[in-house]
Amino acid sequence: MRQKMAEEKKKGEDAIVELKLDLEGMEASVVHREKLWENARENMETEISSLKFQLSSLEIQHDNKLKSVEEQHLSRLEQQALDQEGIIENLSLEVNQLRSVQDADSDRHVSEVAQLKASLAEKDDTIEALKGDRQQLQINMQTSTHNCEILKKQIAELNETLRLEKEKFEADLAELDRENTELKKKLIQLIKDKDSLWQKTDRLEFEQRIQASKVWMENDSVTHCMDCSLEFSLIRRKHHCRLCGKIFCHACSDNYVMTASSSRKERVCNACLMNNSALESLAGQSRDSDELS
Ligand SMILES: [Zn+2]
Ligand SMILES: [Zn+2]
Repeated sequence: MRQKMAEEKKKGEDAIVELKLDLEGMEASVVHREKLWENARENMETEISSLKFQLSSLEIQHDNKLKSVEEQHLSRLEQQALDQEGIIENLSLEVNQLRSVQDADSDRHVSEVAQLKASLAEKDDTIEALKGDRQQLQINMQTSTHNCEILKKQIAELNETLRLEKEKFEADLAELDRENTELKKKLIQLIKDKDSLWQKTDRLEFEQRIQASKVWMENDSVTHCMDCSLEFSLIRRKHHCRLCGKIFCHACSDNYVMTASSSRKERVCNACLMNNSALESLAGQSRDSDELS
């Protein structure tokens, strides 16, 4: 046991010695590294100072350049300012000229505006007058429209009347055509009748002439009226019929007609009067037929 503990103790002491050796090695390493770091730091500082120097020289160069550029720019700006002043002066002159022109224009415009106002007032008056005229025209137009409506109604009524009249007229015309046709037929018939009547008249006149030329009785050959058979006397005288030539009393021959042999009316008997009346009637009918044709 004791031996074991001694061995253990020896082992522990050996380990401590080893650890001390390691510690010494590590300390030496730390010192070495500190030296290296110090050297590096010194190098860096040297580099930084040289860079600072470069920077300051660059700043100086930059300042110099900036100054020269600013001076050039400034001189250019001054030149531009001078130019601008010249331009402004010219512009001022032009503005003055324009103002004088504008003043003249303004005066002219004022007078023109006054004239325009006057003409505007006249136009307003004219417009008022025209408005009055327009109202009057509208009233007239309404009246005319009303009259026109009335006239249209009248025209429509007249057209209707005209249409009815036309229909009536056409009906009358058709009736007249029909009557005309009938009248033509009648006329043809009448012409035929007239021819036959003329033939009859000629025959009767011929017979009458034969009778008149054949008989002119002697006064002594009769003692009584050949119509009423009363005896002739101093009071009842004998009278010849100028157509048949026979002898009648005054009462039986108190008829007077135109004859072919005389230019005035002459005494005829009752029988000859009837014959003559028939002849005249026939002659009248034939004259009517002539007028119709
Ligand atoms: Zn008689
Ligand atoms: Zn007679």
